[in-house]
Amino acid sequence: MSGSQSILVDEAKVFVQAGDGGNGATSFRRERHVPRGGPDGGDGGSGGDVWVRANAKVRTLVDFLRKSHFRAQRGGHGAGANKTGERGADVEIMVPAGTVMYDANTGAQLADLAQPGDACLAARGGRGGRGNARFATAVRRTPRFAEKGEPGERRWLRLELKLLADVGIIGMPNAGKSTLLSRMSAAKPKIADYPFTTLAPNLGVAHTPEGKSFIVADLPGLVEGAHAGRGRGHDFLRHIERTRLLVHVVDLAADGRDPHDDFRVVNEELKAYPADLSRLPHLVAANKLDLPAAAERLDSFTRALRDAGFEVLPISAVTGDGVAELVYRCADLVEELAPAEENVEPRVFVPTPEAEPLNVERVGDGLYAVTGSAVEKLIARTDLDSDDAVGSIQSRLERMGVVERLRDLGAKHGDKVLIGEQQFDFLD
Ligand code: GDP
Ligand code: MG
Repeated sequence: MSGSQSILVDEAKVFVQAGDGGNGATSFRRERHVPRGGPDGGDGGSGGDVWVRANAKVRTLVDFLRKSHFRAQRGGHGAGANKTGERGADVEIMVPAGTVMYDANTGAQLADLAQPGDACLAARGGRGGRGNARFATAVRRTPRFAEKGEPGERRWLRLELKLLADVGIIGMPNAGKSTLLSRMSAAKPKIADYPFTTLAPNLGVAHTPEGKSFIVADLPGLVEGAHAGRGRGHDFLRHIERTRLLVHVVDLAADGRDPHDDFRVVNEELKAYPADLSRLPHLVAANKLDLPAAAERLDSFTRALRDAGFEVLPISAVTGDGVAELVYRCADLVEELAPAEENVEPRVFVPTPEAEPLNVERVGDGLYAVTGSAVEKLIARTDLDSDDAVGSIQSRLERMGVVERLRDLGAKHGDKVLIGEQQFDFLD
């Protein structure tokens, strides 16, 4: 464990693959009395996209442990009579709000899906290939080739969910914070099979029987945190930026100490806490009431704090007495204190595909390699079984400046040129 920040993060790896574009068709009009009509091969449809969208109903990334591969539908092929292929259906992946998306290979951040409705185009569907009707010119009246569909984008994504605590538990060392956290977030079968405990020992999800839920964090005191040797940088603080409420646990049974003093000491410490937690409303949990020493002090402690404007709830974190009431009260307050439903427009992230620039190099004797997104796409779209189609590449490569660069590097007629995974003869 490298620090408390990492354990507040939930992660998943997901593979997304957009649909390939459909192939263009090679077809010729059939008319009565006309031996061969003009070309009428339609275009292929584009492949479906893969979208990742934040949804308020989704709370964790746990579902991706079971399903981690997502594929959108490919586009339909074009057909005769200028029929365009159908567009492939999109796929939408739902994630919780607060999910940050990265390209797993490059590490580049693609989107910060902070609000429900925010979405990111994770993999773009391939364009459909053009049908032979598109290649007819005055000179080439009967083009006998069409384009293939472009492959859909694919990539591994890394999803990172910022688990933002709604409620923070504070208090003196040994007041019972950890015990209370485990109590509050216990007995929730849905979460039980989720390895929350290993991910986040100081974070839990509390549920009411009515199905309200909120995230609770045990906030180590400044002194405690430093002693535990934990990195308590800004990352940690980012996860309590949504915290709306504090539960202040006070040990009423502490030997030789006035619980009221403990309460004040912790409040002083709060002011020094970098996230300015002291402005947040407090609930006071008067703890360890199963012990007689605590029961004796309850009345005077409660009176003093109520006079000061605090709400006090008596509990025993160990026996669980009063904890259900505390959870109810927290759930209500979390709801009450929720910021007004932000009426922000959902954001849409459309990462620009990284265009690899054209590169031509000599890699061996009479052997050259051409790389770059534009050329490689051109080759992927070309039906290499058709001489006509291959012939048409030549003029495209000429226009892209590839042929000239090959000549500059000394390429001669008959040399081999690698483009993507295909090998061609250089005809000059
Ligand atoms: P933290 O330092 O605030 O996280 O405190 P812990 O939860 O680790 O508790 C410190 C000690 O107090 C442990 O020995 C707990 O078993 C004990 N403790 C916590 N809550 C209660 C309680 O309600 N009653 C009693 N008798 N002991 C408690
Ligand atoms: Mg503790």
